[in-house]
Amino acid sequence: MAASSSITTSSTTSKLLFTSSSTSTAARLLPFTTTSSFKCRAFHFHRHRFNPLLHVHVGPFKNPRIVFTHSTNRPPSSFVSAALATEASAKVIDGKKVAKEIRDEVAAEVSKMKEAIGVVPGLAVILVGDRKDSATYVRNKKKACEDVGIKSFDARLPEDSTEEEVIKHISGFNNDPAVHGILVQLPLPSHINEQNVLNAVCIEKDVDGFHPLNIGRLAMRGREPLFVPCTPKGCIELLHRYGVVIKGKRAVVIGRSNIVGMPAALLLQREDATVSVVHSRTKNPEEFTREADIIISAVGQANMVKGSWIKPGAVIIDVGINPVEDSKSPRGYRLVGDVCYDEAIKIASAITPVPGGVGPMTIAMLLSNTLTSAKRIHNFK
Ligand code: NAP
Repeated sequence: MAASSSITTSSTTSKLLFTSSSTSTAARLLPFTTTSSFKCRAFHFHRHRFNPLLHVHVGPFKNPRIVFTHSTNRPPSSFVSAALATEASAKVIDGKKVAKEIRDEVAAEVSKMKEAIGVVPGLAVILVGDRKDSATYVRNKKKACEDVGIKSFDARLPEDSTEEEVIKHISGFNNDPAVHGILVQLPLPSHINEQNVLNAVCIEKDVDGFHPLNIGRLAMRGREPLFVPCTPKGCIELLHRYGVVIKGKRAVVIGRSNIVGMPAALLLQREDATVSVVHSRTKNPEEFTREADIIISAVGQANMVKGSWIKPGAVIIDVGINPVEDSKSPRGYRLVGDVCYDEAIKIASAITPVPGGVGPMTIAMLLSNTLTSAKRIHNFK
């Protein structure tokens, strides 16, 4: 599974390609489409968008950094001066773009399957109660299904539904051959036992990957889970698609929740990284993160990870989504990650933004898991 990567440039096209030998679906070429930019310390330049007419070198820095120099014979002198005095900033890992690529791939596969065997993958979503945020997530998932040709089914149950009623709906979907994936929107109302409900989803349709059997298989060597939870799977997919080598690297996961931190750590370990998990009781977390080649942060604390916590050249995957007050925004707030982006971008070699990083990957992975399920159930290669 581990990707070995290389960076190649072509002087004729001046296009940077990342090649990955990953055996995952990610083994492909990706044009270097970063919105990464660089800042001039000496001249206080504003950020420049990535210029495709630039060559890329891995510079002789104390850590691997990407340095941009102009590809023509006679670059503008002001540009050269700026380049000499600039500090390269991290490549921005564009989750929105990768998610779109995945959705397009899923759409193509769904239509191929429909044509070949007349089967349309189906995803059932169960929503209990009337939390606005949950209703929005469910609506987005439904819309994403429609866009790629996956049929969606939903059960909307009132807040005061009993655990038995919820499980009855799950059983119905377990037995419905048109349904290939079942998702229970979390959190459930507090009177319902989440564990009992998640256990009721049959593992062959557990596209969220939260069933203890799937998590158990993820944790065990030599066992394969049928599904991997979507958000951590999306994090690893971003690393693959950007050609980041995981094998042999030191990784730190901040957060150990069942849905993100813990499975992310297991996935990194399966990819042969050496993994440390930092949580709320960890003393001096920065001592761990400073050693990390890869950091995945899933905490839910705005700007917790400072630039000084990051090893130069590290790759940062920021899962956190945190609203912070912003009087300039019409909503009165904006979303930021767990990582102090403005500081991290000067130190890391690659980073996911918030929003537009991991967020869009979650639904893309859900669609991909649903397709995988339908293919497996119908033995369609
Ligand atoms: P969660 O269940 O609340 O877990 C948070 C984890 O962070 C816990 O393991 C907790 O440690 C740890 N933690 C809390 N404070 C800490 C601190 N000061 N230092 C180190 N660790 C600390 O949250 P979650 O569901 O995993 O979500 C985490 C973040 O990711 C949230 O911002 C959420 O909105 C976001 N998220 C994004 C997506 C997406 O699609 N992009 C999906 C899911 C979640 P303990 O275990 O010791 O309590």
